[in-house]
Amino acid sequence: MRELTTCRSCHRFVAPDFSYCPYCGAGRVRSYEFRRLLDTPFDRMEHSVQEYSMLRLERIERQLDLLEGDLEHLLERNSL
Ligand SMILES: [Zn+2]
Repeated sequence: MRELTTCRSCHRFVAPDFSYCPYCGAGRVRSYEFRRLLDTPFDRMEHSVQEYSMLRLERIERQLDLLEGDLEHLLERNSL
């Protein structure tokens, strides 16, 4: 079943795949397009947050490696 929406401006039936009314040219932002508009920046934000977390994890890992090296060094020195 094909869903039809009405134009907000001229109130004629318009197929849901039109973003603009073919009769009067009024823009019709459909809910899913609106969601997509909202989702895009959030996706990007989430992506940067993930990237940032990965960077932080890498940095922590490197610091842990350094600490481990120091600890081994210390243990070696103490056992001698
Ligand atoms: Zn219209």
